[in-house]
Amino acid sequence: MDQINILMVDDQPAKLLTYESMLSQMGERLIKAQTASEALSHLLKDDIAVVLMDVNMPELDGFELAAMIRQHPRCRRTAIIFVSAVHLSDVDRVKGYETGAVDYVSVPVVPEILRAKIGVFADLYRKTSELEHVNQSLEERVSERTQELQSTIAQLRERENRLRLQGEALAEADRRKTEFLAMLAHELRNPLQPIRASVELLRQTKATLEQLQWARDVVDRQVNQLVRLVDDLLDASRISSGKLELRKDIVDFISIVSGAVESSRPLAERKNQRITLNLPSEPIYIDGDGVRLMQVVLNLLNNSVKYSPMGARISLAVEGREGNVVTRIRDEGMGIASADLSRIFEMFYQGQAKADDAQGGLGLGLALVRQLVDLHGGSVEAHSEGPGKGSEFVVRLPTLSRQHRAPQPDATVATVDHSAPSRRILVVDDNRDAAETLAMMLRLEGNEVDTAFDGEGAITATATFHPDVVLMDLGMPKLDGYEAARAIRRDAGGSEVVLIALTGWGGDMDRQLSQEAGFDRHLVKPVMPTELLALLSSLDRDVAH
Ligand code: ADP
Repeated sequence: MDQINILMVDDQPAKLLTYESMLSQMGERLIKAQTASEALSHLLKDDIAVVLMDVNMPELDGFELAAMIRQHPRCRRTAIIFVSAVHLSDVDRVKGYETGAVDYVSVPVVPEILRAKIGVFADLYRKTSELEHVNQSLEERVSERTQELQSTIAQLRERENRLRLQGEALAEADRRKTEFLAMLAHELRNPLQPIRASVELLRQTKATLEQLQWARDVVDRQVNQLVRLVDDLLDASRISSGKLELRKDIVDFISIVSGAVESSRPLAERKNQRITLNLPSEPIYIDGDGVRLMQVVLNLLNNSVKYSPMGARISLAVEGREGNVVTRIRDEGMGIASADLSRIFEMFYQGQAKADDAQGGLGLGLALVRQLVDLHGGSVEAHSEGPGKGSEFVVRLPTLSRQHRAPQPDATVATVDHSAPSRRILVVDDNRDAAETLAMMLRLEGNEVDTAFDGEGAITATATFHPDVVLMDLGMPKLDGYEAARAIRRDAGGSEVVLIALTGWGGDMDRQLSQEAGFDRHLVKPVMPTELLALLSSLDRDVAH
């Protein structure tokens, strides 16, 4: 610490000069004051370590000044040394000490004693100052640490909160998963029951032709229902893993809607429901995935059928306006409770409305609709005035401007060419039932068909049977479909054969792998017989051209 301040107070300038000469060698800063107010103004302005003053000054009582000094917070560390000419009574001493850190020197003042006393106080002042300094920085650190701790505690609380919410979400997801699995088992079992009964009926030799026909229709319907469930499940897993992709083309949305209505009609007719249409006469072109857009309209229509009573009316209206096409599907069915409206587009969410027939569901249809509409850059909304008041779903999709070319004829629309010549076809599948039934169907179409049940069998049969086309599963024991295809392609006899993969794996990666292995086409199970026959006859056309 630099110099400290020593204030000398006396009404006699000569005395002040004496003190000054006595103390100058101490090297501190010496300040002189002749009056109480002068002394006080110094005390308020500067940090004074020691005040040296006479007890008895005319017009100024040293004790009173000392009391004033003590009252001021700024001076709480200031020491006072009284100079007293007379012998001080004990009473006066007490009076003096009450006012704080004080000492006395008596007259005549011995310079060494005065310096020694001032030296003690100066030392004390310096140490106290240092201590205060250390104390202050300690306090600052403590308050910094307290702030740090408080922010850490806040962060911990926030994390704890987040973890709690995550835990709750996980528990909810787990509950929904358990519910979903129970529902899935139920939904998959539902179609199996009538299928099994129909198979029994088909075995009956006494069954009439009509009964057989009826049993076949039941199997057909129920298998379609199973296929729909499995497709929805696959799509749901693609949504979850972000792998749902569109195969875009320029498509006419109006033909897509008409196609969806035709697919939905049999369901509606069974419930005696009428679908009224209001479609524009002109095509409306969209840059989109025709199959997926059909799925959107079909899911919404099927829901209207499912959640509306017998004989209800369902209306579907499409309107093109300013770069958009708006589709409204309205029904007079069970309606949707307002609490459900915001959630029905979530995956696995099922509302209060329960279908009144065996057509259940997995709570995936609307989640798929929303995802597919999003992928097309559109939006979908649900409206309902409440239970029993019917529902309306509105889909908006961006359209292409008029100058865009008309779409190519849709290759997925099957046109079966029954005049197609007979082919030699090898069917390979480790599921014997699957291989045999497909072989039987192809034989009925006039083809010569052989079967194999694993990859090695496929290679041998290709060498001996010389097929034109090989329809082959990919996942098989011993040698899988990829390996078998490579081996067939390597062999001179197999380089000309048309290799078609027939598999449960339909992702882009799977298609790429099968192409690399030498397959010409990639079909995803289950394949509709019409689709397969159309593909086979298109192969003939390819060859003819
Ligand atoms: P699912 O029909 O398999 O339950 P969806 O995702 O298709 O699943 O529909 C979710 C829920 O939305 C349904 O469970 C049903 O409560 C409600 N919902 C959907 N469409 C309609 C409709 N047209 N009328 C009344 N409720 C509907």
